[in-house]
Amino acid sequence: MSICDNIKEIQQRITDAAKKCGRNPSDIKLIAVTKTKPIEDLKEAFKCGMTEFGENRPQELAAKYPEFADTDVNWHLIGQLQKNKVKYIIDKAQLIHSVDSYELALEINKRAKAIGKVQDILIQINISGEESKSGVSPDEAEALCRKISELENIKIKGLMTISVRGLDYQGNKEIFSRLAMLSKKLMGCNIPNAEFSELSMGMTNDFEAAIEAGSTMIRVGTAIFGARDYMI
Ligand SMILES: *Cc1c(COP(=O)(O)O)cnc(C)c1O
Repeated sequence: MSICDNIKEIQQRITDAAKKCGRNPSDIKLIAVTKTKPIEDLKEAFKCGMTEFGENRPQELAAKYPEFADTDVNWHLIGQLQKNKVKYIIDKAQLIHSVDSYELALEINKRAKAIGKVQDILIQINISGEESKSGVSPDEAEALCRKISELENIKIKGLMTISVRGLDYQGNKEIFSRLAMLSKKLMGCNIPNAEFSELSMGMTNDFEAAIEAGSTMIRVGTAIFGARDYMI
């Protein structure tokens, strides 16, 4: 199967999953996760209509960015972001999915301000409570959002999470539903300058469960580009 075939198949699966639960497929954005993949693969995906690319390493995003400079491609930083790497992506990322500390938000705010940008971000939540996972705990989410919402050059658009490896459909749906409930709760807190309209959840192995739970952005790598040579 070619990358184009894979994209068509994923789009069909998104449509089917959305219809099954009465959602509009166009409310679910497909982000092609391009980490470790060569630029040729990205070009093929672009030819087949993909305009949302996700990378989890800032330098890799920065290296691939110029190839699509004059296009309508949007870049998503989806992996853990160290403060000292914000500078590589601040002028390139449309959305940073992985903000989980005030210190990181402060650095993003500072860099965004310097280039006259308001940076859209998501707050990454560790819903499962697994120690290995990055993200802020659900209990700490409201306080963190309130603090970050005071920063003028950042706009909180919603929440992001990664599910637990090896769960079945129901297990994943349960995890993702918890993120959706947290999002509703935060919406009710009326935090100024924070929207909670986006839920970034769902990957190759669990995106249908995520769609049923209310995902608005799924991040799919393997099902589009095939297995990666190494894990990151
Ligand atoms: C790698 C990665 C993905 C994509 O994973 P696949 O299983 O290949 O679809 C999604 N989100 C994040 C944060 C990732 O690091």
